[in-house]
Amino acid sequence: MRTLNQDILQDKLLLKNYTQQELELLITELGIPKFRASQVYKAVYGNQVPSFAGITTLSKNLQQQLDEKFIFTSVTLDKKQTSSDGTIKFLFTLADGAQIESVLIPSEMEVAEGTPKRRTLCISTQAGCPLGCEFCATATLKLRRNLETAEIIDQFLTAQQHSELPITNIVFMGMGEPMLNYDNVMKAVDIFTNTQTPVLSSKKITLSTAGVLPGILRMADEKRTIKLALSLHATTNGIRQKLMPIANKYSLEELGNALEYYYRATKIPVTFEYILFDGLNDTELDVKRLAKLTRRFPSKVNVIPFHEIDFTNPSGFSAELKAAPKEKFFLFLKRLKENNVQVMVRSSSGLDIDAACGQLAFSSAAQ
Ligand code: SAH
Repeated sequence: MRTLNQDILQDKLLLKNYTQQELELLITELGIPKFRASQVYKAVYGNQVPSFAGITTLSKNLQQQLDEKFIFTSVTLDKKQTSSDGTIKFLFTLADGAQIESVLIPSEMEVAEGTPKRRTLCISTQAGCPLGCEFCATATLKLRRNLETAEIIDQFLTAQQHSELPITNIVFMGMGEPMLNYDNVMKAVDIFTNTQTPVLSSKKITLSTAGVLPGILRMADEKRTIKLALSLHATTNGIRQKLMPIANKYSLEELGNALEYYYRATKIPVTFEYILFDGLNDTELDVKRLAKLTRRFPSKVNVIPFHEIDFTNPSGFSAELKAAPKEKFFLFLKRLKENNVQVMVRSSSGLDIDAACGQLAFSSAAQ
C-alpha cells in the first residue's frame, strides 16, 4: 500500500506518529531526559497546544531542539466551509500535496437548550480510495496513499482548534477504507484513547468498513472496543457486487460470520449501513433478508438516503442510481421496525456543501 514519501519530511519525524513509549525512546536518543516525553504528550493531547512553543513546561532551547527533529502538525487547513445546518467541512493539504477532507457534524437529535450534545468528526483514513464503490464520490479520486497516524490525529486536533465546543465523537467514515490502513488507524485509536491523556473514549469512536473481512477478524482477535459499522447496502451478493467491487472478494455469508465472530469476541453491537436506492434494494424481500441478517447478533441498521454525486459526472451503472423517494424510504423504515429491526436514519448533514456521506471529493459547492 502506498505511504507518505519520507524524503519530503527531510529527515524530520511526524510527532503524532508515536505513542508515548515510542516518543520516550526517540527523545532519549536525542540526549533529552525521558520525562520530557510525558510533558510533550500531556501538552499535545491533554492541553492540545498547537505548537512546540505552546509547551510551556519546556525551555526555549528544548522547544527548538524538538522543533528541529519533529514536525508538530502534519496537516495544513486550506479551507473551511460551513453548511446552513451547522456542518463544517475542512479541506487539508498534507506534506506531499495530497488533500483530504474531514466533516464536523453537530448532532440534531440530542439538542439540549439549543446546543447539540454531540459533535461528531468524520475523519479520512486514506487520500482517495481504491475500492471503487459505484455510489461514492471518493471512488472517482482513486487511491493516492494511506494516511500516516499523525495525519489521522491532526484532522481531529486541527478541527478541534477551529471548533468552539469540544468534539465528542469520531467516525472513520471520511475518505478511504480504514481496514486497508489498519495499523495506522488503530495506532491513532490507541493514541486517542491513551490512559494518561485520553482525547476520547473508545466507545465514542466508530470505524466503518466496506467489508474488508480480514480487518473485521483482526478487530475481533485484538478485542478492539471501538464500534464497528459495515456498509452493507444490499441483501443479495448479486446486487452488492454491482454496487461494490469488494463484494466479489467477500460474500455476505462470510461477512455475516465475521461480524458474528466480532460480536462474540467484543460484545459490541454492530451497525449496518444501508443506502436506500430506488428500485434496487428497497423491496419487501430486502426487508425480510435484512431482518434475518440482523437477528444473528445484537445490531442496528442505519438507513442512509442516497446523496447524489452528479458533480463527479457519473456514467454507466453509477449514473442510474437514484435515491428512494421519501414515501418508499419511510415505508422501508416502518417495515424494518415491524420486523423488530432497530433502525436509525443517518442525517444528511452538510448536503449543500457536498459534505454528506459519500460526497467527499473536493467539490467546492457553496463557498
Ligand atoms: N470505506 C468505508 C468508510 C467510508 S464511507 C466504508 O465503505 O464504510 C462512509 C459511509 O458513507 C459508508 O457507509 C458509505 O457506503 C456511505 N456512502 C458512500 N457514498 C454515499 C452516497 N453517495 N450517499 C450516501 N452514503 C454514501
